[in-house]
Amino acid sequence: MDYFLPAHQGRACENIIFSTLVDDGDIVPMNYHFTTTKAHIVANGGEVVEYLRPEGIDVTVNHPFKGNMHTEQLRALLESDASVPAVRMEAGTNLIGGQPFSLENLREVRALCEEFDVPLVLDASLLQDNLYFIKEREEQAADMSIREIARAIADACDVFYFSARKLGFGRGGGILLRDEAMYKRMRGLVPMFEGFLTYGGMSVREMEAITVGLEETMDYDMISHGPQFIEYAVRELDERGVPVVKPAGGLGAHLNAMDFVGHIDQRQYPAGALNAALYIASGVRGMERGTMSEERDADGVEPLANMELVRLAMPRRVFTLRILKKFFHG
Ligand SMILES: *Cc1c(COP(=O)(O)O)cnc(C)c1O
Repeated sequence: MDYFLPAHQGRACENIIFSTLVDDGDIVPMNYHFTTTKAHIVANGGEVVEYLRPEGIDVTVNHPFKGNMHTEQLRALLESDASVPAVRMEAGTNLIGGQPFSLENLREVRALCEEFDVPLVLDASLLQDNLYFIKEREEQAADMSIREIARAIADACDVFYFSARKLGFGRGGGILLRDEAMYKRMRGLVPMFEGFLTYGGMSVREMEAITVGLEETMDYDMISHGPQFIEYAVRELDERGVPVVKPAGGLGAHLNAMDFVGHIDQRQYPAGALNAALYIASGVRGMERGTMSEERDADGVEPLANMELVRLAMPRRVFTLRILKKFFHG
């Protein structure tokens, strides 16, 4: 893409993007929200709507692309009178268990964005897993290199932003853009919130590390480690009767707390309770991804999450398959 803006973190990119694009009463459709994304859109007066296909939040269904956008619902919104400043797609959809979208689905969303002249914003923070799953699971991409798939994804988007803590393995973030006018509108916010345009809050050392991390991400062997040992962990847990999200996604293995501790009412945070119990029993620190992670409504009511998950994250730079095998088989 022609333009780049540096930022100190993924959520800082979201601040710049959504405070520029979103106004009171706007609706931002997306495959699924992420906590910080939603907070920024809501803080700017906007509303988030999620158009995931039903299989996306059904932990019992095995579907290769649970992160796909429901394009008929998106079309209906774009045909309505709603004010839609952007459509957002999230790669490796975080809160539903690191689930990918397909290249085909992204291109369908792209076509709708073009038809209705709405920019397509990609949250590419978890792109590396999504790249791997497209390569593995999508026929049309079987003969493409990871770099070619990355290119095809970027070509479908108007704005591409990422947390370099995940995509790049450093401390930082960035926004890539095509449109000069949009770039100019966002550019002024970087020195206000991040730092000068040459570093945006990142140290030179971090920017160098991110460059290496991004290059590594284009290497199929490198990015296949994580999803492969996550798949291994999911299989081992499943064989032991532990309820897990299937198919295995990216990020980590995700326990389905709704099933695991079905006796706990959702208002009493099953995923939070399971996570705490797991830590007390084993010293393993997971991450609650359920109702506790939801933003309260404007009237103070806490919405119940679609899923109650405990994420057992397994970053590829920390774990190996060998560690996992030892964990399960001693
Ligand atoms: C982590 C994450 C962010 C926020 O990035 P930070 O670097 O933590 O601020 C945004 N979107 C997604 C999908 C993420 O996983």
